[in-house]
Amino acid sequence: MIRSLGRRRLVTGTLATAAVAAPFLQVRGAPLAFPSDPWTLGVASGAPTPDGVVLWTRLAPRPLEGGGMPGDTVEVDWQVAEDEGFARVAARGTARAAAASAHTVHVEVTGLRPARPYWYRFRAGPAVSPVGRTRTAPAPGARTDTLRLALASCQQYEHGYYAAYRDMAQREFDLVVHVGDYIYERSWGRNPVRHHGTGVPTTLDEFRTRYALYRLDPDLQAAHAAFPWLSTWDDHEVMDDYANDRSYTVRDAERFLKIRAAAYRAYWEHLPLPARARPNGPDATLYAHYRFGDAMDIVLLDDRQYRSPPACVAGGRPGSVASCDERTDERRTMLGAAQEAWFADRMRAASTRWTVVAQQTLVAELAGPAKDGERRYWMDGWDGYPNARRRLLETIASARPRNPLVLGGDRHAFFAADLARDPARPEGPVVATEFVGSSITSQGPDPAALQRAVAANPQVRFGRGDRRGYVSVELGVKRAAVGFEAVDDPTQRDSAVRRLATFAVEDGVAGVRRA
Ligand code: FE
Ligand code: CA
Repeated sequence: MIRSLGRRRLVTGTLATAAVAAPFLQVRGAPLAFPSDPWTLGVASGAPTPDGVVLWTRLAPRPLEGGGMPGDTVEVDWQVAEDEGFARVAARGTARAAAASAHTVHVEVTGLRPARPYWYRFRAGPAVSPVGRTRTAPAPGARTDTLRLALASCQQYEHGYYAAYRDMAQREFDLVVHVGDYIYERSWGRNPVRHHGTGVPTTLDEFRTRYALYRLDPDLQAAHAAFPWLSTWDDHEVMDDYANDRSYTVRDAERFLKIRAAAYRAYWEHLPLPARARPNGPDATLYAHYRFGDAMDIVLLDDRQYRSPPACVAGGRPGSVASCDERTDERRTMLGAAQEAWFADRMRAASTRWTVVAQQTLVAELAGPAKDGERRYWMDGWDGYPNARRRLLETIASARPRNPLVLGGDRHAFFAADLARDPARPEGPVVATEFVGSSITSQGPDPAALQRAVAANPQVRFGRGDRRGYVSVELGVKRAAVGFEAVDDPTQRDSAVRRLATFAVEDGVAGVRRA
């Protein structure tokens, strides 16, 4: 098949073949030599707009030993072409890869045409990178009958191989949406198939090494090289269950914010993010809005950086506990006031068929069954912030964007849920439909406990925590088709991936339907 050959070449383009096929026209600067292949971490693209995209790479001949780059700043030429053979180059330029940014490269390409594929590559000295493929967004309002996205989250490296990404890279998507836990800071779980090999990162160099380890995975590289990504973070990019400047493991806020600054910086460096998301110390504006023709408005939220401390746990780990007055305090926030106001503006301005809210975790209430007469709430999720959740859903209900779809991750389980205007009153009208991806690899909750919780929360229409995978979403004219794509065996790199369940959301009708 010609198509699969094309994809294979995407990730295995070599210096020799690429250079012979279409050499870069310019040679600049002093001769540059690398001790070995500098493109060990692959190439990536992200933040697609109708006329541009962010291109990413990092020069790292020795990725697990600080990068191994000679010298300080290196000039990197880049090309974007309309064809895989680079016969029709649409844009080119030179970027600087500086030691201060771990020799990462972020190029914000502009001047491209909407809704079409492009191929890109980099060159530093004699070394030409593998070729990546990307796709620009359709022009605002342009008729877009189908838009396909893949939803990913939670990829604990030690828990399995990235068969989910291998499967994703072999299919056709316009976009990957990643909603967090791109790395994990610590080792946990049963029967690891591979090891981090280093301890919990707290410095910038240590976080960079963790990203390099994850990004060395060929299947993750393939998914980055095949599609543009939009991404937001959850807790494990910094520290388990942190909230704003609070962490139950590092109690000193000043020290924790230093770690958060290093973690945010390394995240920005290693993902194809635009310059506006670049952190300033421990702060970064990651929440963002994108529009794809007449098909999709998508907002990506950041529910970690600005949230109130976990309720009812007195600074301890926010587990599943009984409620208390703190949980239902009206002032508690998940998004912070500025992001809440921005979100309301975006919902009022949404003008496409599908309005996607990509956030970290499960929005639907999933309170544990009563134990000693009291229900238990997962204080790290929206159940720990019920008034913030009510405001989020009331904003959607009153702004009335078309077909709101909420996407999430974090829980290491597949969920499909009907979202009522107030989830504490699930009998009310459904205002949005929610789908939560399981995890690419991260081990899930106890299946029996999850089934009991799902049974006690009827608005959660589907819940499975025993399978890893991702979610495919095809936004059509009359309906959205949603597939839960499950990995047979995450301990096998070549594991098959099969459809576990299929749902449809009809235009104008909020709520989960099995298809
Ligand atoms: Fe996770
Ligand atoms: Ca998480």
